[in-house]
Amino acid sequence: MLDSVRDYLSQLAEEGLAGLPVRGAVSAAGQGASASKLPLSAAAVLSSAGNSARAAASAPPAPLPAPGELLSRYPGLEKTTSLEEVKAFIGDCKRCKLAPLRTHLVFGVGNPTADLMFVGEAPGADEDARGEPFVGRAGQLLTDIIERGMGLKRSDVYICNVIKCRPPDNRNPEPDEVATCEPFLMRQIDLVRPRAIVALGTFAVQALLKVKTPISRLRGNWHEVRGVKLMPTFHPAYLLRSPGEKRVVWQDIQEVMKLLGLEIPARGGAR
Ligand code: SF4
Repeated sequence: MLDSVRDYLSQLAEEGLAGLPVRGAVSAAGQGASASKLPLSAAAVLSSAGNSARAAASAPPAPLPAPGELLSRYPGLEKTTSLEEVKAFIGDCKRCKLAPLRTHLVFGVGNPTADLMFVGEAPGADEDARGEPFVGRAGQLLTDIIERGMGLKRSDVYICNVIKCRPPDNRNPEPDEVATCEPFLMRQIDLVRPRAIVALGTFAVQALLKVKTPISRLRGNWHEVRGVKLMPTFHPAYLLRSPGEKRVVWQDIQEVMKLLGLEIPARGGAR
């Protein structure tokens, strides 16, 4: 019962409900942690405080959709053979109620054959204005994780969102919007064929895994979607509000680096 309450509060906090005394309550990783100066500090990395959170984060593998189930919503989508063709297939999309509200449709950026893919939930104001995912403050933090933490270039990875148009006032994506837009993400995954996906935040994780399990229980463990290993972790926007959680995100990122055979820096990711 207590665990359920903690998970619920954690999820609310990640979704942006301020004022809830959750960080210290829900995560052993956050206990005693203060905001770190750098996005991913060595001290945070080496702290053992997050281990209990990792040990607690266990969830059964998510049921995968039947092959083609999602793509069959849009006949012809399964025949696309490149990201450019998917983008053209989406076109000036008016398939859901977000279409008239957007400035730009935000398709995705990066290496079309990347080993690593990051998936967020939806564009925000900066992304809507520029037509590129993760370019605001949260985007800068994600870039820091990729470049300063993992030692990669942002252009080495592929970055996109579950839905391609900004919900008004950055509200959470609604189920009908996710259902309408997610086949495009699935085709992006099929075509990039990364070795690993990092799903950022509650909505991306729940949309990809088709579960309602709080991210605090899912993160830190490998899952699978469309035959690709998936690591859930907190959204960078949540880290801006709760910097004490950077250490657990860094733990998740280290698992990804191990899978990809990347060298983990001896003194943390930020230099
Ligand atoms: S969110 Fe997706 S389905 Fe909705 S209009 Fe944008 S591209 Fe189309």
